[in-house]
Amino acid sequence: MTRCAIGVDIGTTSTKAVVYGSHGKLRGKVLGDHAVEYPLDTPVPGAAEQDPERIHQAVVAALHGAVIDAQVAGKDVVCVAFSAAMHSLIAVDAHDAPLTPSYTWADNRAAPWAERVNAEHDGLGIYRRTGTPIHPMSPLIKLLWLRHEHPQIWKRARRFIGIKEYVLKRLCGEYVVDHSIASATGLFNLASLDWDAGALALAEIDPSRLSTLVPTTHRMKLMDAAQAHALGLVADTPIVVGANDGVLSNLGVGAIERGSVALTIGTSGAMRTVVDAPQTDPEGRTFCYALTDKHWVVGGPVNNGGIVLRWVRDEFAAAETETAKRLGLDPYDVLTHIAQRIRPGAAGLLFHPYLAGERAPLWNADLRGSFFGLAMHHRKEHMIRAVLEGVVMNLHTILPAVEALIGRTHVIKATGGFARSPMWRQMLADVFDREVIVPESIESSCFGAAMLGLYAIGTLKSLDEVAPLIGATYTHRPEPAAAVVYARLAPIFASLPRQLEAQYRAIAAFQREAI
Ligand code: ADP
Repeated sequence: MTRCAIGVDIGTTSTKAVVYGSHGKLRGKVLGDHAVEYPLDTPVPGAAEQDPERIHQAVVAALHGAVIDAQVAGKDVVCVAFSAAMHSLIAVDAHDAPLTPSYTWADNRAAPWAERVNAEHDGLGIYRRTGTPIHPMSPLIKLLWLRHEHPQIWKRARRFIGIKEYVLKRLCGEYVVDHSIASATGLFNLASLDWDAGALALAEIDPSRLSTLVPTTHRMKLMDAAQAHALGLVADTPIVVGANDGVLSNLGVGAIERGSVALTIGTSGAMRTVVDAPQTDPEGRTFCYALTDKHWVVGGPVNNGGIVLRWVRDEFAAAETETAKRLGLDPYDVLTHIAQRIRPGAAGLLFHPYLAGERAPLWNADLRGSFFGLAMHHRKEHMIRAVLEGVVMNLHTILPAVEALIGRTHVIKATGGFARSPMWRQMLADVFDREVIVPESIESSCFGAAMLGLYAIGTLKSLDEVAPLIGATYTHRPEPAAAVVYARLAPIFASLPRQLEAQYRAIAAFQREAI
């Protein structure tokens, strides 16, 4: 008999379920897993939507597949807990049928409504009460868009829910939303742990059209034995509602003690750190989302992570990519090796990586990328190095906002595709002038969910018991000479975008008309 906990992460491209040992020496060890992918649809420009029922089916298949892969008995599963991507919105009718797709965080169609809320409705005040930046990703802003642009759907909609609520309703028969997913809707008051009256008034909805709020440790049961059987579980398996994928990732990489920062650079990027009470930024630069009622995650997401290096690979490095392929090498390794030939600071070349506009800390979709400081002595190598440095320096610009709220940070837990590169990891240590630790490669949101589940059922007495279960693969310490160079360049890097606001707006407007 091997007792185990399952973490399920409902992500944007797939749902993953991972089975972890829950007791004794096997606690935290991966016993099996299964992932099921699904598309992210873009039927019109700006859309990024998904079929909720397809995702429900993926959750069922992933859970069942993981139980089979781990070869565990349903009765030995001590809990199943859920992670999910933030900010999704689905309208459902009185019979619980979806009237819309699931509009994901990446859907941009509500952008004009974000601008309007900022200009006319004290966007900063709403953010400071709810912790969610005013942005088209936010369900509050999507509700305004839906009400104005799709009034027929609005009238028929009995409820507005997120993707996790949809799945849990199908599995457990209840509409509940955890404080964590709720804290990323723009509708939840961080101080009262209840729906925010002002935000609901702006959206013109009352709480009866939203799910029942519950703590992230809330436990439920599956609907019946048949349902349990389809999942490979038993009917009384505790189902723990869980939290959102970002905050669970902090738990899953062992970054919940004060001063420890989780930093990820995958396609996009994010920086997150945990405090024991909700905190928001007077300038609106950071988010604040719940992990538990005593753990709050403060940080910022960036659009421009590894996607920028991918752009360099595809647009500028065709020859290098070809050579890499011929030699059986990863093109990204070739690019980072080229960059390594150049000293830190790229001989005074800076790159602002805003190819996709930017979220934190400036929250401005009109930002655009640029090289600054180009001179005759710069070669292509310098440009590649400057791109890598620009991605890291951009994340570094979030640090002052985070440290203004929580005090000095001292260690970075780094994850995401970029962490495969030793030189990019060292660069992170040097730019931030902090120790960088790469946690053992695990599905951090699934792991965080499973561990929160064990805490919810009392198997773990404290979330502080999680970090010791996580090994480290690499550690990097800042090299003092490089840190000095970056400390000189960082203020130049950070000051430029603030001075160019009007010019960014003008060039973005030009591009919208020209393409
Ligand atoms: P996602 O966020 O979509 O899950 P990943 O976490 O796998 O994606 O990150 C993908 C990004 O990681 C790529 O766009 C690339 O910039 C970066 N990356 C992947 N492999 C390497 C590598 N060997 N060296 C440097 N960067 C890499």
